[in-house]
Amino acid sequence: MAQTVAQPTATTPALPAKLPIGAIVPWAVFFGILMLVLLYFVGAEQGATSVVNGADVHEWVHDARHLLGFPCH
Ligand SMILES: [Zn+2]
Repeated sequence: MAQTVAQPTATTPALPAKLPIGAIVPWAVFFGILMLVLLYFVGAEQGATSVVNGADVHEWVHDARHLLGFPCH
């Protein structure tokens, strides 16, 4: 009784490229700090902790502040 056995194909499966973690960490830290600065300006740039005088920054990010649920007025 002859049996047919599937032969493995000659092609190897494509492996994803390895990510160089040393090249990603500085960018992750940079964007993390950038996001924290953005979060500060959206969520806390007002009143006594204000970095920029006036209400211009607050007015520019006012809708984002309400969207993210920060207390405003
Ligand atoms: Zn508001």
